[in-house]
Amino acid sequence: MEPLPKTSPMPVFRARGLTKTYTMGEVTVQALRGVDLDLYAGEFVVLLGASGSGKSTLLNILGGLDAPTNGQVVCQGHELTCADEDALTRFRRSSVGFVFQFYNLIPSLTALENVELVTDIASDPMPALDALALVGLADRRHHFPAQLSGGEQQRVAIARAIAKRPAVLLCDEPTGALDSATGVLVLQALEHIHRETGALTVIITHNVSIAAMANRVIYLSDGSIAREERNAVPRAAAELRW
Ligand code: ADP
Ligand code: MG
Repeated sequence: MEPLPKTSPMPVFRARGLTKTYTMGEVTVQALRGVDLDLYAGEFVVLLGASGSGKSTLLNILGGLDAPTNGQVVCQGHELTCADEDALTRFRRSSVGFVFQFYNLIPSLTALENVELVTDIASDPMPALDALALVGLADRRHHFPAQLSGGEQQRVAIARAIAKRPAVLLCDEPTGALDSATGVLVLQALEHIHRETGALTVIITHNVSIAAMANRVIYLSDGSIAREERNAVPRAAAELRW
């Protein structure tokens, strides 16, 4: 029998030659200087770089929140860099879960209702209560954001992001506003969700300690990818300290 040809799997994201230039009056800032990047299903990636290195710019372009100045992004066979606003909105709504440093929960809605805002409009969501259970907050479902700690609010935001079963979860400094013990709890929630759902998970951070929990660490420096590393045995989030 003929052996099957060895093909590498299709990446979820394929980015080529991404540049981003911001112009403000006389000043231009080159935030990305030609980024090539492939991200695969099931990966847990940490994108590490100093403040100002272009991490948020790159994440926002991958997530369809912003367009590059030049270059191409293909996600699951669709070229984002050709898509119009409506198509980008559909892409974000169906395929991308976002987690930001600040949780952006609606103060007048309970934890469960905050998650239901997403499950009500998604095409194939999980039950909102299941999403809260994935972050260990099912018993807090009737609490309002002001009745939850910062770490708990971030876990509700993660439940909201994952409830629509996105192909990719993009997290921009998810522990940036938290003390280290609380940050570890948030990372444990992300680790658990990754294990349960297999969603491609990307955490961007300037915190080098977080890199140990990734399968793959990508170093961004001054708008370019400087190098990448793989962790043969990723460290459990519970063991991280900073
Ligand atoms: P990071 O997330 O790694 O801190 P950013 O992607 O936010 O980096 O920023 C990269 C560079 O682009 C920085 O020099 C920043 O000041 C600049 N920048 C980011 N967003 C804007 C913007 N909307 N307008 C002008 N400059 C920006
Ligand atoms: Mg940033």
